[in-house]
Amino acid sequence: MSDCIFCKIVSKEIPSDIVYEDDEILAFNDINPQAPVHILIIPKKHYENINEVDDYGMVSKMFEVGKKITEQKGIEDFRYVINKGEKAGQTVFHLHMHLIAGRVMNWPPG
Ligand code: AMP
Ligand code: ZN
Repeated sequence: MSDCIFCKIVSKEIPSDIVYEDDEILAFNDINPQAPVHILIIPKKHYENINEVDDYGMVSKMFEVGKKITEQKGIEDFRYVINKGEKAGQTVFHLHMHLIAGRVMNWPPG
């Protein structure tokens, strides 16, 4: 989508600090990190949110990339977050999974 910031990151129109890339998935550091490690894992294909996915193999790939990144970085304790919808905190409407680590986290979330 032409007006989507994450599509522009995928096309490299907007720079990002890339952690992992393959044909279908991109992972990059969040610009406003909420923890020492805060990486966004996204499909290159534009899906507005998790419920708009038409190929759940893509979601498996996002988790596989998360495993690669955490193992490569030696991150043992971490949290994945997918916000769906404004009330849940979604601000960028291109599916993304937060990978957050490096500090103690509270449960339940706020
Ligand atoms: P969410 O609130 O779940 O939609 O998460 C959107 C995330 O995207 C936030 O954590 C933002 O800090 C992050 N973000 C927004 N713009 C950029 C950007 N240009 N590069 C990296 N992360 C971004
Ligand atoms: Zn997009």
